[in-house]
Amino acid sequence: MNNANITRMSALYAPTLKEDPTDAEIASHKLLLRAGFIRKTAAGIYTFLPLGKRVLTKIENIVREEMDACGAQEIRMPMLQPEELWQESGRADAYGPERMRLNDRHDHEFCLGPTHEELITALVRAELRSYKQLPLNMYQIQTKFRDEIRPRFGLLRSREFVMKDGYSFHDTQESLQEEYDRMYAAYERICARCGLEFRPVQADAGQIGGAVTCEFHALAEAGESALVYCDCGYAASDEVGEGLARPTVYDVPEMEKVATPGVHTIAELAEFLGIPESSTVKALSGKNDEGKLVVLFVPGDHEVNEEKAARAAGGFTILTDEDMEAYGLHKGSMGPVGLPEDAFVIAANSLKAVPKWVVGANEDGYHYVGAQLGKDFKVDQWADIITVKPGDCCPKCGMELKGARGIEVAQVFQLGDKYSRAMNATFMNKDGKEQPFIMGCYGVGVSRSLAAVVEQHNDEHGIVWPVSVAPYEVAVIPLDPKKEECATVCEQIVDGLCAEGIEVVVDDRDERPGFKFADNDLMGFPYQVVLGKRGLKNGTVELKDRATGEREDVAIDEVVAKVAELVKAARR
Ligand code: ATP
Ligand code: MG
Repeated sequence: MNNANITRMSALYAPTLKEDPTDAEIASHKLLLRAGFIRKTAAGIYTFLPLGKRVLTKIENIVREEMDACGAQEIRMPMLQPEELWQESGRADAYGPERMRLNDRHDHEFCLGPTHEELITALVRAELRSYKQLPLNMYQIQTKFRDEIRPRFGLLRSREFVMKDGYSFHDTQESLQEEYDRMYAAYERICARCGLEFRPVQADAGQIGGAVTCEFHALAEAGESALVYCDCGYAASDEVGEGLARPTVYDVPEMEKVATPGVHTIAELAEFLGIPESSTVKALSGKNDEGKLVVLFVPGDHEVNEEKAARAAGGFTILTDEDMEAYGLHKGSMGPVGLPEDAFVIAANSLKAVPKWVVGANEDGYHYVGAQLGKDFKVDQWADIITVKPGDCCPKCGMELKGARGIEVAQVFQLGDKYSRAMNATFMNKDGKEQPFIMGCYGVGVSRSLAAVVEQHNDEHGIVWPVSVAPYEVAVIPLDPKKEECATVCEQIVDGLCAEGIEVVVDDRDERPGFKFADNDLMGFPYQVVLGKRGLKNGTVELKDRATGEREDVAIDEVVAKVAELVKAARR
């Protein structure tokens, strides 16, 4: 084999490990380390070895193709960002300690970019003057830095990672909506082309800001996000999902005070009374931004979602034990009957349909059963204040929500004028008036997506790459690479595949067959062409499909055409 462009495993730097690394908990982390795709440099910081780099580049190119096809323009912004820009946007403190900060020799402050809204807004503000230059969408594929409090799961939550981040600028909301829809569709194609089983879900805007946003989640048990979804198409992360709980009613004729000695939690209360937790009502007390006492009630089998509570109450800070005492409230036995006069009571929407509640009696060691809504207590406001969970009713169609776990691989946001207004980035609109840009932003976690693909595509033998992102599409495995006959056939097949434009790696190592099979399975090339002694005698080689494990003998002079056809059909 003389072709210098062909990758030979004897020369490839891809050290494989027999055992699972002890500090890796999930499949993608273990397998990427074991198969020699990545190596850890420090906590949450990785080197991509040759095989890993090839996959990363493939995913980058899928993203690039889809962005370019939408007319987005690729740029490259600096990773080092001047601190002043973060002061201008007002995010310097809000973003928190995740930002990696540093000073130059003149003591000017910088950070390593965790995201680039500030930089691009400053860029465009300087020179883009007229609505005639809009809309504009620019993106980059670049290393980002976030000093995550708990870097873990290898590439899934790292401190240095590769992201595609894009930003669009508009003169009207309609124009932003059009671009947002275009990016949304492009993101669906990116996920599909990477071979990911995914779901777009309603999401929280987090640090970035903006009202309309959607996350794309790769479905995987190892995912850090809890999702709810419904066959009707509704899907959301549990942070923002709007499902309605299904409380159950514990019916007694009249309100009754029950001694509940030693009962402090909902679980204890349910057990004590012999009823399901969904028949109890849980309370949480806090203050809103005006300092007013707010008491929240949710079904006992649900948690209060503090973000939602804050929105409903005009801010919500949980009371300290001392504050509770000062108000005469009893932790573990709080209820709506006999609350302080000035308490503002907010209850979860689903409790509206529950006429009688099982609640704390505002007295240590006592609860009420059958406390009647409207008779024994009042509610000032009904609101969505629960964290949704599987089994709740879909807010769209009322059917039962299902649960799944997901890895957030991408997110799209309508930012509006949050950054342009704060940073005074304006242009001349159609009416000849200065107006802040209306912006959108769109991020894909490129290195996280790589891990997500592995999380979804693996088996007990190793990684099973989809053809679209495989480091090589075919591994040719001569079992006697030193024997002339074997070497000649190998060369013929490899040259033929290369001529067809197929990406080939040759396992020319002088190793036992079992060792080679295990390594190639671990590395996960979609097709293997095995050249064994017996087959060669009969003029055949063995073609193995890594995903199905199926093997078949194929005539030597037919194998190139056959593999080329399979690979080309599987490319996306
Ligand atoms: P998360 O909620 O997981 O911390 P995020 O919502 O803060 O992520 P974005 O600001 O939306 O992240 O960044 C865009 C994309 O970058 C994310 O959808 C994700 O795929 C990727 N990403 C974010 N943080 C990390 C990280 N620590 N390691 C790897 N990829 C990341
Ligand atoms: Mg996000």
